[in-house]
Amino acid sequence: MAATITGFETHDVRFPTSLTGDGTDAMNTDCDYSSAYVTLFTSTDIVGHGMTFTIGRGNDIVCAAIRELAQRLVGKDTEELFANMGKTWDYLNADPQLRWIGPEKGVIHIALGAVNNALWDMYARSRKKPLWKLIVDMTPEELVSATAFRYITDAITREEALAMLQAKAATKAEREARVRELGYPAYVTSAGWLGYSDEKVARLTREAVEAGFNHFKMKVGADRDSDLRRGKIIRSIIDDPQYLPPGATPRDPDAPELRGKNAGPTGAVLMIDANQVWDVPQAIEYVKGLEEIKPWFIEEPTAPDDILGHAAIRKALKPYGIGVATGEHAHNRMVFKQLLQAEAIDVCQIDSCRLAGVSEVLSVLLMAAKFGVTVCPHAGGVGLCEYVIHLSLIDYIAVSGTMERNVLEFVDHLHEHFLYPCSINKNGRYNVPNDANEGYSIEMHKNSIAEYEWPNGSYWVSAKAK
Ligand SMILES: [Mg+2]
Repeated sequence: MAATITGFETHDVRFPTSLTGDGTDAMNTDCDYSSAYVTLFTSTDIVGHGMTFTIGRGNDIVCAAIRELAQRLVGKDTEELFANMGKTWDYLNADPQLRWIGPEKGVIHIALGAVNNALWDMYARSRKKPLWKLIVDMTPEELVSATAFRYITDAITREEALAMLQAKAATKAEREARVRELGYPAYVTSAGWLGYSDEKVARLTREAVEAGFNHFKMKVGADRDSDLRRGKIIRSIIDDPQYLPPGATPRDPDAPELRGKNAGPTGAVLMIDANQVWDVPQAIEYVKGLEEIKPWFIEEPTAPDDILGHAAIRKALKPYGIGVATGEHAHNRMVFKQLLQAEAIDVCQIDSCRLAGVSEVLSVLLMAAKFGVTVCPHAGGVGLCEYVIHLSLIDYIAVSGTMERNVLEFVDHLHEHFLYPCSINKNGRYNVPNDANEGYSIEMHKNSIAEYEWPNGSYWVSAKAK
């Protein structure tokens, strides 16, 4: 149905997570998980919701950038925008003046993530499909035209992408049926935040094992002795069959999906995340000292822009059986392109809204598949789990065709603020979003916005009064 974009509204929504230590790591010690949220309105009742994630102060600056970008959509015909989402992305990304305050990085780029995602949400809702389904049902030609391709054709051409997608097209329905039945593999981060006591880490780890998870992530980098101590606590639980859920049997650590992951005797895998605290030589030395707890990979060992630094760390840690992962702060597809070209990563951790929305994510999914690198999206934040299940489903069904080596981050908080919260089945895997009206699953409850909007939401007004 013909529709025109008539306007938008933004909300600066902040949750007081700093009170509990949720989300704490070696770099980010005081986070109020926040959403720079946008809703696009049309001349019909179709709307589109999008957001990008921040950790508190500065969320208002992102909202200001979102308003600048969303303004560029007002008056546009939605069907024309949907007909070539790659071209639409280029248009949004190429404002002759706003481009200067990037280009394609920082505040303006994460703001574009919110706006592009809102437009994809609107597109999916208008077709009465969840976002992942809208995209996996596209022809290979349509999917390629929806992708941001500028500046990456030295790594992958449109023709190569098309051939890859065509090779997977005939078996999409099988994979869709399989993942609907089994769910998508997940891992849990919530047990291992730095701000938690040993007792809380142990309790949360036991609960996670009982909930069916077998990949676990722990934050490291503030103090090696304490990292080793917490790592041993976690390993002592995840490697011990007595904690497995009733009826569950240990997984074979040599099974193909666990090979190379340093899995323990029950098939459990531990990952560690330093959130960028080290210089390159320091990262290598520190992580060597954690060999005993057998991590699969070290995530974000150093500055996110340091592509060759990641390559050096990966090379140095290879003899220890420890890989390198990064991506949640990789600010655009060109950084991912170079990480792949430089053989700097074992695991590609796309972020749903640091990259500038679905169109740019598609370009990274295609490159990662071409280079044979596993995609395990980042989801430590508010709304990110809701987003990323869609991206992993697109990766599995339409792009890479694999999921059993992949794991999608799951963080168990703040889901109650969303109309279509993500969910995990009894085997510790994400359920497939399946509501015809949920779009990209990111619509927030109006009363959550009213309560947590900064600075005048009811929560913040009463917090200030205390
Ligand atoms: Mg991380």
